[in-house]
Amino acid sequence: MISGKNIIACEQSANGSNTYRTFDPLLNMDNEWQFIEATDSEIDLAVEKAVQAFETYSKKSGSERGVFLNQIADEIEALGDELIAAYCKETGLAEGRAKNERGRTVGQLRMFAKLVVEGSWVQATIDNGQPERQPMAKPDLRKMLFPIGPIVVFGASNFPLAYSTAGGDTASALASGCPVIVKSHPMHAGTGELVASAIVKAVSKTGMPKGVFSNLNSTGHEVGQKLVEHPKVKGVGFTGSIKGGRALYDIAAKRDEPIPVFAEMGSINPVVFLPRALAEKKKEWAKTYAGSITLGTGQFCTNPGLMLALASDDLDEFIALLSKEILDIAPMCMLNPGIKNNYATNKGKMMQQQGLTVVADYSQEVKTNFAQQAVTKVSGAEFLENSTLHQEVFGPFSMIVACKDVHELTLVISTLEGQLTGTVVSVQNEIKDYEKVVTALQSRVGRLIFNGVPTGVQVCAAMMHGGPYPASTDNRFTAVGIHSINRWVRPVSFQDWPNELLPNELKKENPLGIKRNVDGNWM
Ligand code: NAP
Repeated sequence: MISGKNIIACEQSANGSNTYRTFDPLLNMDNEWQFIEATDSEIDLAVEKAVQAFETYSKKSGSERGVFLNQIADEIEALGDELIAAYCKETGLAEGRAKNERGRTVGQLRMFAKLVVEGSWVQATIDNGQPERQPMAKPDLRKMLFPIGPIVVFGASNFPLAYSTAGGDTASALASGCPVIVKSHPMHAGTGELVASAIVKAVSKTGMPKGVFSNLNSTGHEVGQKLVEHPKVKGVGFTGSIKGGRALYDIAAKRDEPIPVFAEMGSINPVVFLPRALAEKKKEWAKTYAGSITLGTGQFCTNPGLMLALASDDLDEFIALLSKEILDIAPMCMLNPGIKNNYATNKGKMMQQQGLTVVADYSQEVKTNFAQQAVTKVSGAEFLENSTLHQEVFGPFSMIVACKDVHELTLVISTLEGQLTGTVVSVQNEIKDYEKVVTALQSRVGRLIFNGVPTGVQVCAAMMHGGPYPASTDNRFTAVGIHSINRWVRPVSFQDWPNELLPNELKKENPLGIKRNVDGNWM
């Protein structure tokens, strides 16, 4: 049942007087639940409890943490239809999407459970000592990764389950041994509270310290900002707008002790259509891309917001086909009125830019909170001159840039801000003639896609979900997949340390039987 209360160290708490409700965008009305915003003292308490819990939780074995993560997954599944109903009421998204996202969320938790039970993720590295070495003895050195401390996770509006309360950031931080304080997203606070209640049950059933998890409600920026400013918080995970992510990054950088903010922000995900692919397969690609641009009402960080090609008759025909396909798709509801209004404003601003042609704009009347999809076109020269054209329009919107030659195409790609993905659409061998284009693209993105669409992010070890700024604040790390755990850890070396006092991962006898690097060899 949704109470509207905060959860601090697994206990309900509601000391504040600021209240708010979530919104059903399909019915265009407030939902029945009322949420109570966390107070300053509740924020402090959540952090203090997390600090206390860190002492014991960080020392739990991988097997114990694995049991805990698997239990969270089981408890989320046990929430059943109540969770799906709340998700749909707070997002306007369909039941099928809710169930898919729940599957992804529990799958991520179980993936991290497997990782920490197996144990090699700590990257145990051993250089045995050589006391007899001349002219100086070599000390014995042993290094592995350790959790950094309490982590604040900001729930994302567009993924209430997979990137929110028990989403990838929380799962990876808990797996690493860090306690988590979630700053619940105000537009799906009910979904968040239900998932938080599942974590609370898992904490109790597996005997974890209660301070390992808190879930704080907020309706303005203050709660999130205070959490990031708190001197005992050691890291932040965020998914959302560039404005929000950058504001939090700047706060963290100005602290006496700066901390890392791993923010995954805006991306327009350029797609390069090579000439022969357009000549031979324009119909298929037009249909595929109309689907990708409008998938989830365009509310994905991997939405293809920019399509690049050489100007030609084939490109004009592709544009005509894409326009028809996209206007045939029924408009859909956006997550909340704020996102819908942002979409309308940003789309309107974009369409007023000089030199831009609107090639498709759904002009029939739509229900409140539904988005009217659109595709526009500019020349390469106009795109290079006007940086407003580079900005993300979050929603079912895309822009085609027609370049006069390969040199201009390469220049356009090189001047792009950092992106999560870059796609090349090619007939099989055509791509080999565009080496410079591909090199330019690789320098701007975290994931390269061949003959596909950027929407759809696989959760697996080889996934890179991050890219040069502003796609993310630190492009050395992924926000998806097992390696996202590396955001919450730091290496520590032990020099000539007594064997019995070393962590099990580093002991001479390797009691956990994990894969380690010993004197330069993987064992
Ligand atoms: P958002 O405005 O960035 O908010 C995300 C979270 O950050 C919220 O919990 C919000 O808290 C907090 N926040 C935002 N600005 C903050 C600030 N200056 N200080 C402290 N906390 C701050 O994103 P959103 O609400 O999810 O959606 C708004 C827009 O973000 C969308 O229209 C879209 O343009 C963009 N967006 C992009 C992506 C992407 O993947 N590229 C994903 C989602 C959203 P409060 O609301 O409680 O203040």
